[in-house]
Amino acid sequence: MGRKRLGFSDVQTTRAAFEREEVRCGRCKNIVGPRDEPRFVRTFGTAEPTLATITCPRCKTTVSIRFVEEAPAAER
Ligand SMILES: [Zn+2]
Repeated sequence: MGRKRLGFSDVQTTRAAFEREEVRCGRCKNIVGPRDEPRFVRTFGTAEPTLATITCPRCKTTVSIRFVEEAPAAER
């Protein structure tokens, strides 16, 4: 499962950036956000979803979004 596969993209971001639609598909750079019917995944013991998956409307890649506390330093 840990291997990179075609049609699958892993993105790390904050919940706030996601809500502001700053998250882009790792493959085609199309913006994916709350309006693209994300499926939130909750981990046991956490109130907030830690993971969401979205199907990119442009290239149909499954984008897996991991929510982190702060934006990664490389983002800006
Ligand atoms: Zn895409």
